[in-house]
Amino acid sequence: MIDEILPAISGEILTDDATLTGAGRDWGNLVHARPRLVVRPASTIDVAAVVRFASKRGIPVAVRGAGHSPYGQGQTDGGIVLDMTSLPPRRVVIDGLVSVDAGARWRDVLDVTLPHGLTPPVFTDYLDVTVGGTLVVGGVGGAAHHHGVQTDTVVELEVVTGAGELLTCSRDSNRKLFDAMLAGLGQCGVITRATLQLIPAPTRARRWKLYYDSLSSFLADQRGVVRDGRFEYLEGQPLLGEGGWRYMLEAVAYYTPPASPDEEALLGALSFVEAESEDTTYFDFLNRVADGEAALRTVGSWFHPHPWIDLFLPDSAVEQVVDETLTTTARNDLGDTGLLLLYPLRADRLNTPLFKVPGGELVWLFSLLRTGSPVDPLANARMVELNVDLYRKVSALGGKVYPSTAMPRSAEDWREHFGPGWQILAEAKALFAPESHLNPGQRLDFSGTP
Ligand SMILES: Cc1cc2nc3c(=O)[nH]c(=O)nc-3n(C[C@H](O)[C@H](O)[C@H](O)COP(=O)(O)OP(=O)(O)OC[C@H]3O[C@@H](n4cnc5c(N)ncnc54)[C@H](O)[C@@H]3O)c2cc1C
Repeated sequence: MIDEILPAISGEILTDDATLTGAGRDWGNLVHARPRLVVRPASTIDVAAVVRFASKRGIPVAVRGAGHSPYGQGQTDGGIVLDMTSLPPRRVVIDGLVSVDAGARWRDVLDVTLPHGLTPPVFTDYLDVTVGGTLVVGGVGGAAHHHGVQTDTVVELEVVTGAGELLTCSRDSNRKLFDAMLAGLGQCGVITRATLQLIPAPTRARRWKLYYDSLSSFLADQRGVVRDGRFEYLEGQPLLGEGGWRYMLEAVAYYTPPASPDEEALLGALSFVEAESEDTTYFDFLNRVADGEAALRTVGSWFHPHPWIDLFLPDSAVEQVVDETLTTTARNDLGDTGLLLLYPLRADRLNTPLFKVPGGELVWLFSLLRTGSPVDPLANARMVELNVDLYRKVSALGGKVYPSTAMPRSAEDWREHFGPGWQILAEAKALFAPESHLNPGQRLDFSGTP
């Protein structure tokens, strides 16, 4: 039994049924791999001891943040799960930067920065995912068209490499490790701490929901406002109603009174057919999913399977792909509480080598956030199949898939996804994690890579 020969650590080693079952579940609720044991480290020394031990014996280690992956990305069958949320908080704001333990949720980061009048520039829509969990995939949100994704805002990382060595890395030091950890799917090490850029925090957010009847006018307005950068935050959603599809552009201006947004200048030239607006504190805007979460927990669908797919489309194909997808997508394909996202990012703001998007000036996040059935595995398998079909179609048009997607992927799919970036990852793996088998749930395979 590996728990009998593990090195002594100051954290906990858990093998009870409830813990192992919990570690074999995630947000997707589609893949269930049961680990041999779960380690709740009390320090980075514990993390290093476990990773070194596992690496020498070829035991897989899955690193777990908040467990909000959709398809077993943070699970391992028979290996060790390292629960990063047990690390003691290390959260400091200094010189316009914040340094946090990787198990901190983005909500925790805001808790320490807002009292200083500062904020990370980009948030995921949901604040209860961890810093480590989003930095290994990218971290996309409505401010990315200004600041890039969350990985673009990282200044330094502390990493326990797959060989069990504790290193710091940045653009100026251990660059190969830095580049391989950001959006590198946790293949070369475990992020234990991250130092992130901050910007001045506004106190208020004015949010407009602008409705369109036509896809092309919705896309045209999104292109215009993302290019001129007039809103601090921009997302959008195709909405399925009784009368078919409509489109909602979600645009936000941040401000701090006595300044206030100039609505005429911001909305004047746009071609929406209907508008709503609301004004909240900056924090309440960032925390806007919390109400929806409470409602979905009450009706139970928060816990149902989530066959989600997030894609990046080239600007040249967005209208065709979205139009064809919407034409063939019924409510049944999304589930009762499923929804779609569609919004552009500027490629010139994306500087993380392993964060892969199509070429071109603009790329479009297109997400089908499906809710599956709690009782019908065949219906869920069908939704995953729909994801695979869409992925194949989008890949043929030059699109990419966001790693946090519910879909099986082969080793070949991954090599194609990373393109020349595969070599960056493979070289770093050989240097920093040659024997280790980290985050097997991502299903990468380095065998045969020189
Ligand atoms: C309601 C909801 C809304 C979301 N909204 C967004 C959004 O707006 N934008 C966006 O980009 N994503 C979004 N996501 C997706 C989410 O950000 C990713 O799935 C993220 O990877 C989950 O983070 P987590 O902390 O739950 O990590 P986990 O699911 O626990 O882990 C994710 C992956 O990272 C690895 N990992 C975790 N921590 C570390 C670490 N410290 N070091 C190395 N590897 C590690 C795991 O092994 C796994 O492979 C959303 C998810 C949900 C459920």
